[in-house]
Amino acid sequence: MLASLQTVLITPRIIIKSLSFVRILFVTSEAYPLIKTGGLADVSGSLPAALRGLGADIRILIPGYQQVIDKLPDARPVAHIDNLPLIGAVTLMLAEMPDTGVPVYIIHCPSLYQRAGGPYLDASGRDWEDNPLRFGILSRVAAILSCRNSPLSDWIPDILHCNDWQSGLAPAYLHYMPDTHARSMISLHNLAFQGCYPAHWVERLWLPTESYQMHGLEYHHQLSFLKAGIYYADSITTVSPTYAREIQTSQYGFGLEGLLASRAHEIHGILNGIETQEWNPATDPYLVTQYDDRHLDNKNAVKNALQSQLGLSVNTETPLLGVVSRLTHQKGLDMFLSVAETVLQQGCQIALLGGGEAVLEQGFKALALLYPNQVSVNIGYNEPLSHQIMAGVDIFIMPSRFEPCGLNQMYGLRYGTPPVVTPTGGLADSVVDTNAETLRNGTATGFVMDAPAPGALLSSIEHALAYYRNQKSWRKIQRNGMRLDLGWAHSAQAYIALYQQLMGQ
Ligand code: ADP
Repeated sequence: MLASLQTVLITPRIIIKSLSFVRILFVTSEAYPLIKTGGLADVSGSLPAALRGLGADIRILIPGYQQVIDKLPDARPVAHIDNLPLIGAVTLMLAEMPDTGVPVYIIHCPSLYQRAGGPYLDASGRDWEDNPLRFGILSRVAAILSCRNSPLSDWIPDILHCNDWQSGLAPAYLHYMPDTHARSMISLHNLAFQGCYPAHWVERLWLPTESYQMHGLEYHHQLSFLKAGIYYADSITTVSPTYAREIQTSQYGFGLEGLLASRAHEIHGILNGIETQEWNPATDPYLVTQYDDRHLDNKNAVKNALQSQLGLSVNTETPLLGVVSRLTHQKGLDMFLSVAETVLQQGCQIALLGGGEAVLEQGFKALALLYPNQVSVNIGYNEPLSHQIMAGVDIFIMPSRFEPCGLNQMYGLRYGTPPVVTPTGGLADSVVDTNAETLRNGTATGFVMDAPAPGALLSSIEHALAYYRNQKSWRKIQRNGMRLDLGWAHSAQAYIALYQQLMGQ
């Protein structure tokens, strides 16, 4: 029944036949277009669809937040799941993802999930106090569905694919349940978020007392959801090969580097793809005009429209630098703020969209007040504007201190907007620095800083500006990026190979 890895790569027809036997439950706390706070939602929206396209029988499991319930009016109850800590029971609903049709199970439990606010934070930006319960239930339901005596007797997964800390307890629950069927995998999208809670949650969530130890889910006298996932999952993936190596070092491991290094053989780095239909300058409905790698002059019209919309001086020649990002320490935008005036004095403009830490929001807003014709700052989340900035700016700025994969640099590549990035994680794996050699051999796609430091950022921006002034070279860099295959096909095949490897063990 199982194809070998070689078969997976060489004979797609055989894969599709064998894959129809592989059932995967993809557990996530956010999925585009149902609910999104960051890159995990993009991955959860696209990867299952790509896997299904290869023949996998995959279903998503997600909490029934109000936003999810509202977007899936056809959801119908399919099972009653009891034996759950503190809340007793929930109803499981089944629907299909909009656009892709991937089946999605929704945990219907209004007292836990149907509230005004985000999936993790309340309206004032504080973590929901009962997050350990909310995501403990997500994890336990996932594990129950992966056992032979699951209430969904007609669909029991072979692979339980968890994502980040929110479903990190699922492999632990599964480990201690009798009658388990599935093998488990956890994908690490960002190690900075670990889901650590006071030890009393171990008992409250019905985790076995013996699991609360160094060789288990204890982390500095707390229960760590993420450590549980890393410790108990049969296989671990991260979202880029470089990040897979980085997290085994103290600089990037957030204290989990020892455990991760001890599991080095089970860690696989698979670079995320992007949703190439959604992010396509040739069809993007948010743009005043569309363009592709053969009609790059149209990009100027998008730029002028953006300048006008944002209140910047309308001028095609002026280099326009863009940012779309969470404004947090991780994203390194404090470095950009510290060199921004120097960049503006060189005649550039800046368009920023983002939200997050107050000090960064205020810093950029103050800059916009000082340079109203050169700087536009939009605080908040705005999907259409994120597309317009990606298309309308000339250079995309992404100086992350660490970046598990990063999607925005890939959107920049696809939109003919070469990115300036740090040499870390997925940025290092997706952007090729421009120099005489890479320009000649056709691989140059952007600008890679020497280090995560303001001076290095400034010199990379100046390096980019020098190429920008040379229209012929600039077009080459733009086209190299636009012609890359950034879709999910390669990554999805790599996940399939891993699933099959796991099932064969
Ligand atoms: P992360 O998940 O760490 O925030 P990624 O680059 O992996 O970073 O993904 C960020 C996703 O969120 C992208 O799809 C990006 O376009 C989107 N995004 C971030 N901030 C905003 C914003 N303020 N408005 C619209 N989209 C945003």
